[in-house]
Amino acid sequence: MKKHNFYAGPSILSQFTLDKSVEAIRDFAGTGLSILEISHRSKEFQAVMDEAEQLFKELLDIPEGYRVIFLGGGASTQFCMVPYNLLNTKAAYLDTGTWANKAIKEAKLFGEVEVVGSSKADNYTYIPKGYAIPGDADYFHITTNNTIYGTEIREDYDVNVPLVADMSSDIFSRPVDVSKYALIYGGAQKNIAPAGVTFVIVKEDILGKVDRVIPTMLNYKTHVDKGSMFNTPPVFPIFAALQTLKWYKELGGVKVLQQMDEEKAAYLYDAIDSSKMFVGTVKPEDRSVMNICFVMKPEYQELEKAFLDFATSKGIVGIKGHRSVGGFRASTYNALPLESVKVLVEAMKEFENK
Ligand SMILES: *Cc1c(COP(=O)(O)O)cnc(C)c1O
Repeated sequence: MKKHNFYAGPSILSQFTLDKSVEAIRDFAGTGLSILEISHRSKEFQAVMDEAEQLFKELLDIPEGYRVIFLGGGASTQFCMVPYNLLNTKAAYLDTGTWANKAIKEAKLFGEVEVVGSSKADNYTYIPKGYAIPGDADYFHITTNNTIYGTEIREDYDVNVPLVADMSSDIFSRPVDVSKYALIYGGAQKNIAPAGVTFVIVKEDILGKVDRVIPTMLNYKTHVDKGSMFNTPPVFPIFAALQTLKWYKELGGVKVLQQMDEEKAAYLYDAIDSSKMFVGTVKPEDRSVMNICFVMKPEYQELEKAFLDFATSKGIVGIKGHRSVGGFRASTYNALPLESVKVLVEAMKEFENK
C-alpha cells in the first residue's frame, strides 16, 4: 500500500532526491565508486559542495556578504555555536517552545540571556508579540517554526539588533529576506535531506567580534574559510541536499513551494475547522504551514487511539502528536504531495461519520 508520510523529522524526501541518491550510492558521477566511499576532496565531490552553496544562495536570493556552510552536529550544536561565536555580554531570546528553550539553555553558558517573550503559560499555542528587545543585546534569537507545537513566524522581523533564526523546519517554505538576518541555521532532516547535515547562512561581518577563544571546530570562521571542508563534511547528506535543491529549482523555486505548502496547510486546517470531532491547538494567526497540530474535542478524546489505528490502515504514518501536545501532528513538508493531505482529510471525515 502507498504510504503517506507525515513524520516530523527525519521526514519525507522527494522521489527525485531518493532516486538520485540511490544512483550515486551505486555509481557517483561516473567515477565507478559510490558516493559513500569517495574522498571528500575529490573534484567530483568538490563540485557537489560548490553547487550546493551556489544553489542555496540562488534559491533564497542570498545577498553578497553571506556564506552558506554545511556542518555536522545537528541544529542542536548550533544552540551552542551561536552564543559561542556571537554572544559577548548579553543576548535576547524568544521562548516559543522546546527547541527555543534548548537554545536558551546553551546561551546561558556564555552570558546574560534575556527572554523577551514567552508563550509557555499557554503551552506555546501562539507566538508572543509586543515585547521590547534591549538595544544592547548582541543578537536576538527566534525559532521561526516550532515543530512540536505547530506555531510559526512567517515573516521577517525588523529588529534593532542582529537577528538569528533557527529555521530547521520551515526553510524553503517561503521567500526569506536574508538581509534582515545575521545568521540562519537548521538541521536538514525536515525539508532538505536525510539527517546528518546542518546548514548555516552567516553574514561574514558579524564574525570575529567576541573576546573569547573559540575551539576550532565550533568556530564559524574555520568552516567559512575552508568552504565547509576543514574536516570531513557529511558527504552523503550534502549530496542528497543538492538533489533536493535541484528539485526545488525545477519546480520553480521558493515562491512555488510556498504556494504548494500554503495550499496543503489550508486544505487540512479547513477540514479541522469544519470538523465536529477534531480541533486545532494553535491560535489561527500563528498556525504553522509545516506542522499542523490538532486533537480530538474533549467529548471524543478516548477515540484518539482508534483514529490513529484507522489512519494507519489507510497508509497514513507519522501523525501521532508529540507527547508535549498530544493528539495529532501532520507534518506537511515540501516533499509531501497534496494527495497525501487529501487522503488524511478523507480518513478524518470517514472516521467522523462512523
Ligand atoms: C528538529 C529541530 C531541531 C533539532 O535538530 P537536530 O538536528 O536534531 O539537532 C532544532 N530546532 C528545530 C526548530 C527543529 O525542528
